[in-house]
Amino acid sequence: MDIFTLDIRTLNFIIILFSCIYSIGFLFYQRSQKQIPGLELFALSLLFIGVGPFFLGMRGTTPDWFSIVLANTIILLGFQLVLHSLCLFRKCSLRYTVFTYICIPLSIWLFYYFSHVSPSIKARIIVVSVFLAVTTLLSAFAAINGKHKDLKSAVWMMSASLFLYSSFMALRVIWTLSSAELHSFMYAGMIHQLTFLFSIVLVVAMSFSMLWMINARLVKSIHDLSRRDPLTQLYNRHALERKLPKLMAKLNTVQPLSIIMTDIDNFKTINDKHGHLAGDEAIKRVAQIIRAQTRNTYSAYRFGGDEILIILPKTNTEDASKLADSLRVNISIGGVIKNFVLTSSFGVATLRDGESWEQVVSRADQALYQAKQAGRNTVVNCSGVPAPPLIDHTRHKQSEVYDKAL
Ligand code: GH3
Ligand code: MG
Repeated sequence: MDIFTLDIRTLNFIIILFSCIYSIGFLFYQRSQKQIPGLELFALSLLFIGVGPFFLGMRGTTPDWFSIVLANTIILLGFQLVLHSLCLFRKCSLRYTVFTYICIPLSIWLFYYFSHVSPSIKARIIVVSVFLAVTTLLSAFAAINGKHKDLKSAVWMMSASLFLYSSFMALRVIWTLSSAELHSFMYAGMIHQLTFLFSIVLVVAMSFSMLWMINARLVKSIHDLSRRDPLTQLYNRHALERKLPKLMAKLNTVQPLSIIMTDIDNFKTINDKHGHLAGDEAIKRVAQIIRAQTRNTYSAYRFGGDEILIILPKTNTEDASKLADSLRVNISIGGVIKNFVLTSSFGVATLRDGESWEQVVSRADQALYQAKQAGRNTVVNCSGVPAPPLIDHTRHKQSEVYDKAL
């Protein structure tokens, strides 16, 4: 059976090694990447989890206050910082940390008491184990309940490893309570040897899940960037070409799907008279108005140049035309750039049976063309019928708009 004997000194050395390597790695990572909330604290927690056992291993060569009281306090602080850092990293309430922070002074006093006043290895093991069981359980909850949208598998791995560790610590408490007093920790029984093994597994599993979550966040931000138009922050055409076919496959024929295509009227005039930066401002303003009105239900895409496309699932032509007209009104009221009153024309089309997404977009484009032909600042649906205006006074003739601009 000797082959299965776990040497606590060796295991202790492995914890120190792993924790310090991961800690230094995370610290360097944090320096070279953008600041990730909680990561620096997480690196520090690993350092504490490594340094604590190192001091613990100096038992006999250093005074008890150092190798027992200080060493155990550092270990507790290490686990407390894991909890705190996870709350920050996963955007979870710091309320989770309050109880265990309060318990730290009490634990220090208990370490002192059971090493100087009434020495007991067993009592000290119980104090450490209870604290670690509680902190790792709270950390598991903090990891799961965090509001930050992280990769589920990585969150589960982090949480499961903490939960398993917490359960093991609870078992250790029960085991220690029912066993005799220990004379030397370094030659303690299997359960205490397993503690070191579980600690190594926890350090590796936590660090791996942390890196996994950070990597997933980076992949997601790159993915988001590739789908967003940097000027307007609307989705771009690439995102549209991925979204529309998927959406059409999901919706059944009973549910209508409409498209609004809009284009700023006489936009070139702004560019020519006031420069491209003013032109950019105009596109941004129109996008802002559209986004504010469509944010929760619909998605808007910058189709190209001064053209914006809005997808309206479960919306028929009539409702789509009403929304388009309301947008038209809001743009002509709220869109003024350098004394130039912005207006936009709108084309509306509703998906027909057996039609491809390119066909419905093309019909919306044709309706938009008709709106331009009809004098601009107008909504036309795919059947060519101009939508009734919501407020008549906003339907300026283009010449009036020019007059204001000049
Ligand atoms: P219409 O009423 O017929 O739409 O007339 P228009 O002048 O708006 O004509 P059009 O829509 O064809 O003009 C689009 C112009 O938008 C052409 C291009 O120079 C300009 N443009 C495209 N992208 C940008 C951009 O990102 N910023 C700026 N400032 N201008 C852009
Ligand atoms: Mg235009």
